[in-house]
Amino acid sequence: MNQKIVVCGAGIIGMSVALALAYHKQDVFLLAPDKSQTVIEEDIYDPRVYTISPSSQKFFKKIGIWNSLPIHRINPIERMEIFGDNGGKTNLTAWQASLSQLAWVIESNQIEKVLKREIKKYGIPWIKDSFVSYQNGKLGTQTGKEISAELFIGADGSKSLLRHYSNINFQHQTCNDISFIANLNGKYKHQNTAFQWFKKDSILAFLPMPNNKKGPQISMVWSMLKSKADKLSKMIYSDRINKIENEINLISNQVLGPVSISSKLYNFPLNLGKSDMITKKIALVGDAAHSIHPLAGQGLNLGLGDSEILSDIIASRAIHEEAGDENLLKRYYQARKNSVLIMSLGTYALRKLFFCNSFSLSWLRNFGMSQIDRDMFIKQFLINTASRN
Ligand SMILES: Cc1cc2nc3c(=O)[nH]c(=O)nc-3n(C[C@H](O)[C@H](O)[C@H](O)COP(=O)(O)OP(=O)(O)OC[C@H]3O[C@@H](n4cnc5c(N)ncnc54)[C@H](O)[C@@H]3O)c2cc1C
Repeated sequence: MNQKIVVCGAGIIGMSVALALAYHKQDVFLLAPDKSQTVIEEDIYDPRVYTISPSSQKFFKKIGIWNSLPIHRINPIERMEIFGDNGGKTNLTAWQASLSQLAWVIESNQIEKVLKREIKKYGIPWIKDSFVSYQNGKLGTQTGKEISAELFIGADGSKSLLRHYSNINFQHQTCNDISFIANLNGKYKHQNTAFQWFKKDSILAFLPMPNNKKGPQISMVWSMLKSKADKLSKMIYSDRINKIENEINLISNQVLGPVSISSKLYNFPLNLGKSDMITKKIALVGDAAHSIHPLAGQGLNLGLGDSEILSDIIASRAIHEEAGDENLLKRYYQARKNSVLIMSLGTYALRKLFFCNSFSLSWLRNFGMSQIDRDMFIKQFLINTASRN
């Protein structure tokens, strides 16, 4: 098979870049196994949620999926309260940067569902197969197909095989953290506020969700050192739930009243790093290109930024350029490298700064937070950086 542009991987990033290319009338194919869609029930919310930034919202509008998302299941974040481990505190509000929202909290399965529907509507061909090799510019698939193309876009996640087979340089960040996620019910309304607590061995985030029948609902993302996570994982499930509920009620100081876990509990090992993003006839997007710590809730947003920029650059190429042209790919890398660097280093440094027991660093990080809290200019800078992908 000889194709023009093949997107390898059909997570949110793979589907969104395929859709953006189809929107620009490009000849694009998807290559990925078709994950079955989870059944969506009225009062049951997916524990996998994303904070979607204003830039990502604009991109979703551009590729025609924003208005198809169920508005009653989306929650805006209008304010963030962030706490240090020794009295440091800062808050960020949307009005400080003249925005009506800082971000939106949206379930993963809702985004996947509308992306799939739109891909069908556009008639984007989907080869339901996995690739297992890449040699001499050709992908070999599990069912024995050989595929060549002008450009392969690697959207195959943080353990990207395409990155591996094509020898694109990848710098690992040593971090063995594990993130636990679940939906919680609390007693008091969250008022569209997200909360985050930085502790010496963990970072706890509460994200506002729409109420369900049990009352006010929030999504928990609790990232911690592997040694701490291992102790929890060894417990039987009911003991683990009790232990987690007790600890997060202590850390959060019951800011929303006592919270309890109301969904299944999942955990994700974090595999962090960043790559050189391009090589001959290959461009990486999303977690295949860079995976960052979830403490800033920006990984997907960064990948959506890749999808938008890459599709725009491909669509506006000169008449003599192919989609996989070396200069075109260099333009993509140049356009993305700073955003990736800032987000990747920023989240890594923050995580390092807090997971450290030194007294002087403890003073510095809490003092720094309180300084930020007093400085409107820094606050605006932080909000604007997080709003752009
Ligand atoms: C706990 C946690 C919370 C997070 N919260 C946020 C948040 O609030 N906001 C945010 O912006 N980001 C968040 N992130 C980051 C976000 O989850 C990732 O950045 C995002 O899911 C990456 O999407 P992707 O499509 O690049 O990769 P993936 O979702 O991993 O998709 C990869 C796809 O490639 C396919 N694939 C793999 N190998 C092959 C192959 N050989 N052949 C064909 N197909 C293949 C897979 O089947 C899959 O469909 C969070 C991450 C974690 C761990």
